[in-house]
Amino acid sequence: MSFKELKINEQILRALTKEGYTIPTPIQAKAIPELLKGKDLMGIAQTGTGKTAAFVVPILQRMCAEPKQCAPKFPRVLVLAPTRELAAQIDQSFATYGKFLKIRHTVIFGGVGQMPQVKTISRGVDVLVATPGRLLDLMNQGHVHLKHVEFFVLDEADRMLDMGFIHDVRKIVARLPSRRQSLFFSATMPSQVAKLASTLLLNPVRVQVAPQATTVELVEQHVFFVDQENKDKLLISLLQQQHLTSVLIFTRTKHRANKVAKLLASKGIKADAIHGNKSQSARTKAMGQFRSGVLQVLVATDIAARGIDIDNISHVINYDLPNEAESYVHRIGRTARAGAKGTAYSFCAADERDFLRDVEKLTRMQITVKEHKYHSARAKDATGKSARPAPKQQRGQRSNRSPRRRSFSRRR
Ligand code: AMP
Repeated sequence: MSFKELKINEQILRALTKEGYTIPTPIQAKAIPELLKGKDLMGIAQTGTGKTAAFVVPILQRMCAEPKQCAPKFPRVLVLAPTRELAAQIDQSFATYGKFLKIRHTVIFGGVGQMPQVKTISRGVDVLVATPGRLLDLMNQGHVHLKHVEFFVLDEADRMLDMGFIHDVRKIVARLPSRRQSLFFSATMPSQVAKLASTLLLNPVRVQVAPQATTVELVEQHVFFVDQENKDKLLISLLQQQHLTSVLIFTRTKHRANKVAKLLASKGIKADAIHGNKSQSARTKAMGQFRSGVLQVLVATDIAARGIDIDNISHVINYDLPNEAESYVHRIGRTARAGAKGTAYSFCAADERDFLRDVEKLTRMQITVKEHKYHSARAKDATGKSARPAPKQQRGQRSNRSPRRRSFSRRR
């Protein structure tokens, strides 16, 4: 099936062709016809499946088919995304696929000055892409009015919940007109997410693509059993010995992301870190340098890496294994994009052994073990209590102390 057969209009077809896209991806083929009919949609799909075009294209087409008569200054489309990077990429998709249409679009997110955003909005936009926090700020200050929104998209709803945006999302939704077309996308559908969907959607069509395991099958995966104290040495030796051209490294904390980036830089490896504590301009710069190949390595936390749209990542390295198996799938899905080959290496210490077991259970695959100089049989064989991180009270006493002390002095 081609985009033409999906009855996409001439201008949008031209923009798609310019991008080299003629055949819709499975989610596009399933979602576009339903969305063109005006149906609400629940899309279960992760980044990399072409889900952005699956909603941008039909929304653009419906906007063209029914040009706005009244209130030309107010947004007709609202898209909420959990991270700045993802929001910026969605906005870029409206620019790309709407190249030959007269559509005004903009993106707003926190971490940068609000004045330029307010100015753009006051001139009038058709499409507003936003992260929840900044949008709510601007709404409360009276800069954004949502009463004319006809199309509402909530993207990566599971991450919205993970990141604690659920209350902001609810407040925003409460200000939307009840007559609207709503689209809801999530990579996973735990019960809380399903509950949220049921409050937003009206008789939705459900579209699910690429169950997570199939994405996983495209990636060559290896696990390195290693003690925590040897992870740095193992990482350096891998990066120095092998031809790893474009490497995304995941750590569990921001602090560790910084530490790893610094370590690599000290060894002459071009690396930078992105995480929530970095300014927007620093994150944009690091992503740009990674994309262009100036940086060989980008170190990221799960949240910062969400929505990174870089096609040629050769290797993903899990410096730490995530405590949720689903995050592993998201992480390694950053490589092997668009049919390319990709490789994922995971470092597994004794106290991460159960995380690895969870991953293997979810993906229904056994990950190949790589023998190496720092191999730890203790990590490989860990079971019971030693296969999990120590409970927080014992492990985090030092780091817990200062916030507690702060709140005590505040109370006083
Ligand atoms: P997404 O899942 O929206 O992040 O898209 C993943 C990647 O697929 C992006 O780089 C898109 O530009 C690309 N893409 C989207 N639709 C198509 C298509 N029909 N054919 C080829 N690539 C596409």
